[in-house]
Amino acid sequence: MSAGHALTTRCVIAGGGPAGMVCGYLLARAGIEVVVLEKHADFFRDFRGDTVHPSTLQVFTELGLIDEFLALPHQEVRHLHMDIGAERFTIGDFTHLPTHCKFIALMPQWDLLDFVARKASAFPHFSLRMQTKATSLIEENGELRGLRAQTPEGELEIRADLVIGADGRHSTIRERAGFVPEEFGSPIDVIWFRLPLNASDPTEPVARLAAGRFLVMLYRGDYWQCAFVVPKDGFARIEREGIAALRARLASIAGFAADRVNTIRSFADVSLLTVTVDRLTQWAKPGLLCIGDAAHAMSPVGGVGINLAVQDAVATANLLWKTLKRGRPTLEELNGVQARREFPTRLTQEAQVLIQNRVVAPTLAGEGELKPPLAVKLLDWFPLLRRLPARLVGIGVRPEHVSKELLRQGR
Ligand SMILES: Cc1cc2nc3c(=O)[nH]c(=O)nc-3n(C[C@H](O)[C@H](O)[C@H](O)COP(=O)(O)OP(=O)(O)OC[C@H]3O[C@@H](n4cnc5c(N)ncnc54)[C@H](O)[C@@H]3O)c2cc1C
Repeated sequence: MSAGHALTTRCVIAGGGPAGMVCGYLLARAGIEVVVLEKHADFFRDFRGDTVHPSTLQVFTELGLIDEFLALPHQEVRHLHMDIGAERFTIGDFTHLPTHCKFIALMPQWDLLDFVARKASAFPHFSLRMQTKATSLIEENGELRGLRAQTPEGELEIRADLVIGADGRHSTIRERAGFVPEEFGSPIDVIWFRLPLNASDPTEPVARLAAGRFLVMLYRGDYWQCAFVVPKDGFARIEREGIAALRARLASIAGFAADRVNTIRSFADVSLLTVTVDRLTQWAKPGLLCIGDAAHAMSPVGGVGINLAVQDAVATANLLWKTLKRGRPTLEELNGVQARREFPTRLTQEAQVLIQNRVVAPTLAGEGELKPPLAVKLLDWFPLLRRLPARLVGIGVRPEHVSKELLRQGR
């Protein structure tokens, strides 16, 4: 219901990332009036990460969307490899997972978000407002009653029974709510860039390690999406050394793609992505819930952030849709989402921090020849063992399934 620059809805979601869009889709499918706000004019952002894991593909399968989703251009990753020096090790095998899709789909995140937006728009209760930035919360008698947003037409006031903060790791909503995340630190940042593809290149993604260097290369059909991992705040030094020095470093680790690093002409061709790992101790207060990176910023290790955001969205919809049909969820019900999702989030973040500190940082600090760790050798020697990392990365801890009752609502 809209009146000038004010409207009333059941649930307003700040942030059109994976958490916000999937949550908006599920609530609208259950017949709940929901408005999703996205501050940008489109979903096109190069830094978003592109890995759609088996857990997310399983959610799309449960929703009956998987065939249409996989009809979009994507690549399928069935094995994970690590190159240490000149040796290749296979460290993950997704082909035995107990999921419908036994692979990671690599798809530009804007395609995924466009897809969910298109599907959600079919529900009459769904509304997506682009170029609409949540700026502050409406608080009355200690309870949140909605939010204010900046639009190209001026300020918009949205009153709602529930505000969901899904506005990412620099969340305005959590900051306005007075929530302060606990920081777990990160010794690394990532330089993100593309390299051209040659017809003779392999097509599986690979992590390439050598003493002092760590490069991840993702095959994207017509180019390589590359992540060069650097020590925290190391980018300033790299900039001082100049683009030729960066090209030389990349050439020394890029293996079969070393001949193409000259296509990086200047620092305008690379982006620095700062890595943060943090988590709120309190995800909710009366009338408000934070999910996705707004509740817990994820490291890029394992490429699990999008998928955890989707899992949060599924848990939120499963736990709250019935109450939202009638009205306002209680604080206890909102806390139920944190109770459900905090454990898998904490475990995943602890594993990410461990890998950052024990594997990635020592590799970056190392000199001389890098020796393959025993765990990597064991995974390579014993194919059965490779199923474990695939399960942890591809499905994770406590996977969410869309509740059968909710599924019946959207028929
Ligand atoms: C270097 C790096 C690489 C990564 N690579 C991967 C990867 O390969 N795979 C993976 O799964 N994860 C990856 N991640 C993590 C992943 O990007 C996040 O965990 C995931 O995107 C979180 O989803 P989200 O919906 O919670 O938040 P986001 O994806 O951050 O979405 C939040 C949305 O809210 C919008 N927004 C922000 N503020 C407002 C506001 N005030 N009002 C309205 N809208 C707002 C933003 O524009 C954005 O669209 C990576 C992270 C980093 C740092």
